[in-house]
Amino acid sequence: MKRRPFTTSKTFLPAAYAALLAAVSLFSSCRPLIPVETKDFIMGTVVSQKVYGPDAKAAAVSAVQRMRQLEAQLSFFNPSSEISRLNASAGITPVRLSSETLFLLRKSSFYAKESGGAFDILVGPLVRKWKVTQGGTVPSKEEIAALLPLADWKGLRVSENGDSAMLEKKGQMADLGGIAKGFAADEVLRIYRAHAITSAVIDIGGNVSVLGKNPDGNPWRVGIQNPLAERGITAGYVEIEDRSMSTSGAYERFFKSGGKQYHHIIDPSTGYPSDSDLTSTTIIAASSTDTDALSTAAFVLGCEKGMRLVGQIKEASAVFITKDRTIHATKDLHHTLTVTDGFPIIWH
Ligand code: FAD
Ligand code: MG
Repeated sequence: MKRRPFTTSKTFLPAAYAALLAAVSLFSSCRPLIPVETKDFIMGTVVSQKVYGPDAKAAAVSAVQRMRQLEAQLSFFNPSSEISRLNASAGITPVRLSSETLFLLRKSSFYAKESGGAFDILVGPLVRKWKVTQGGTVPSKEEIAALLPLADWKGLRVSENGDSAMLEKKGQMADLGGIAKGFAADEVLRIYRAHAITSAVIDIGGNVSVLGKNPDGNPWRVGIQNPLAERGITAGYVEIEDRSMSTSGAYERFFKSGGKQYHHIIDPSTGYPSDSDLTSTTIIAASSTDTDALSTAAFVLGCEKGMRLVGQIKEASAVFITKDRTIHATKDLHHTLTVTDGFPIIWH
């Protein structure tokens, strides 16, 4: 027997049933939405997710799988990654790579060119020598001078339509540490959307991407660390929806030696940790791949040149904090940025 589809019309509902239905819907609209929250350690950093919606659990699980897969593929530290194969073949032969790795290499070259070489993934040999994320050692001047010529982004040759790339000189090494976490965050948002999620946050060690609005209907509020204070103390916050935000800071990863502090962002023109007038750079834009690369590039360039670079990139906004404790922000953030810690602010 064919079943009649279950249809209701308010006018035909018996009064008691209608009252019950009203009570149930009132109850469910008052009940706070419970997100799926996860914390993992991926790509050398803490990754946290907050995902709302009926398929949130499956989305969060797929996101973690995808991030682990990208880590295996893109890690500078994993000898069997695509990046390590590229590095091992430097000066010898082109290497076939996946479309994602090639995409990131092309993006890296784009930002290297736009930033006049301040963003340069071929800082790899210097990163390895400084070992900032493994305790750190200060190399000798001679060691820096010997490695400096290798940090030249023009040595990365990516076939325009093909499927391979090559590093020109023996000893050159690509390190995607300044861009790959951003790409991973973009991939996670793609996964959320595929699961019909409309409200979520992913934070991959300072690369924060938000999907839609907070379930309370407001934009997401994302804090900006005060680089001159303890971790967790913010200098302000931005209110964003469907946006990505990346921060690079001298305080993120560093070691101390001989009373001096050495951080992990290398100025490719000197071979030493970058020593611009900035202590942190935050970029907000549609794609986390872009915000990640831009925040690293601007950090090296310093306030004035960094602002100029941000101005060249469509719909990118910036919040820089200088060593002399001033916030510099792009004017488009006037209604988005709130400063909480008494920092003077200069609009650009
Ligand atoms: P960002 O400013 O975004 O990037 C700084 C990082 O980019 C530096 O640490 C360096 O790696 C690179 N870099 C330095 N100077 C420049 C420059 N001028 N231009 C371009 N890039 C530059 N860390 C570990 O300790 N162990 C791991 O096993 C490990 N695995 C990782 C795997 C992947 C796929 C990725 C993406 C990162 C991994 N990391 C690991 C972390 C990585 O080494 C960096 O320290 C991290 O990505 C820095 O991110 P950030 O947002 O703090 O700084
Ligand atoms: Mg970065």
